[in-house]
Amino acid sequence: MRLLLNDKPSNTTDNLIQISTINDFIFCPYSLYLHSVYDSFSSQLYHQLPQTSGKLAHKTIDTSTFSTRKKIFQGMPVMSEKYQIIGKIDIYDSEKKILTERKKNIKKIYDGYRYQLYAQYLCLLEAGYQVSRLILYSLSDNKKYDVPFPTEEDINTFSEILAKIRSFDPAESHFAPNKNKCTYCIYRSLCSYHLC
Ligand code: SF4
Repeated sequence: MRLLLNDKPSNTTDNLIQISTINDFIFCPYSLYLHSVYDSFSSQLYHQLPQTSGKLAHKTIDTSTFSTRKKIFQGMPVMSEKYQIIGKIDIYDSEKKILTERKKNIKKIYDGYRYQLYAQYLCLLEAGYQVSRLILYSLSDNKKYDVPFPTEEDINTFSEILAKIRSFDPAESHFAPNKNKCTYCIYRSLCSYHLC
């Protein structure tokens, strides 16, 4: 099934932004639109194997089976009124004050990964939690990557990304699909622009 631009779902105009969509938007703005459609379907209808594996990587967190230690918060819902973002943290160690976002396989620290982690970090700060370290964790090779805390410039860029997400209209926005991205895009079976 392919979706047409004028099929824009109404929830893309909501002011609250899901943290999980930030990475999608930076990857490809049009995937933001497809993300909202994705939420309307069973993921098994169109998820490809690599993405399903990635989704399973998060399942232990969302169902709180990763750890029973009380100091570890897993899949905890968070929200920032200041930035109007909502979502879940991946793992927060309240003793060491370490925030970790797990990915199936990290080959490069993409901006989308960083800003997704910053979003979780800003939500935790607003809720009164301290964070001493930000980590991206690659499950496939068991590697940890320290992510520097956001600078003022990073926060400004983050705010600009949120503004772009809020104003994004797939019917009016122009973008050039990137074949390399399309190849790995979980939404390609829904996308009328995919190049693979
Ligand atoms: S398939 Fe390509 S154009 Fe479509 S959302 Fe994915 S990356 Fe963007």
